[in-house]
Amino acid sequence: MKTIGLIGGMSWESTAEYYRLLNVLVRERLGGLHSAKCVLYSVDFAEIERLQVAGQWEEAGEVLAAAARSLEAAGAELLLICTNTMHKVADQVAGAVAVPLLHLADTTAEAVLAAGLGKVGLLGTAFTMEQDFYRERLASHGLDVLVPDAAGRAEVHRVIYEELCLGIVRDDSRAAYRAVIADLVASGAEGIVLGCTEIELLVRPEDSPVPLFATTRLHAEAAVRTALTT
Ligand code: GLU
Repeated sequence: MKTIGLIGGMSWESTAEYYRLLNVLVRERLGGLHSAKCVLYSVDFAEIERLQVAGQWEEAGEVLAAAARSLEAAGAELLLICTNTMHKVADQVAGAVAVPLLHLADTTAEAVLAAGLGKVGLLGTAFTMEQDFYRERLASHGLDVLVPDAAGRAEVHRVIYEELCLGIVRDDSRAAYRAVIADLVASGAEGIVLGCTEIELLVRPEDSPVPLFATTRLHAEAAVRTALTT
């Protein structure tokens, strides 16, 4: 089994879910007392969020690149950036180490294509929904990507930073997400990418009339597949 390196803490609420899923998935595959070999570098998310808001992505990328180097030195053989948003600096992080980085948008796109779908709605932070880095990576796999309207994007973003990253899960926010999902489906989305690693802590399959693609779970599944492949 390869050792998985996690660049986490963005937020730690979803990184805890990554840790749980990696261990559950390894136990399902290998049975008994088997668990995931992994190393975690957990950042202070307040520092990263400040850099995001200031548009200082290069500096944020350097924080994550340093984390990646630490994980490599600690024995990680593959790396995960445990947030969709910070894949904006995925190339900077990947370039800092020799071990492979498993890109979250690639593992997500592969799952969408495997389900036979071509047009998806994307929920995530404003950075993920409005900038090119994530949508274009999905599109490079041949997917059509829809995003919510401006009011929908603002609400989805607000709930992530003001609630989910703080461990707050509210029924009224779930209802707001259900409405945004319904709009995307009415616009033609055949599936919904939960393109923020906390959203699956709020939204469940029963909240959507079309399949959901939960990026934390998909990323963890891809990592375990890779870790258990010799
Ligand atoms: N975890 C979130 C994501 O997947 C948002 C936190 C962040 O900005 O990194 O995008």
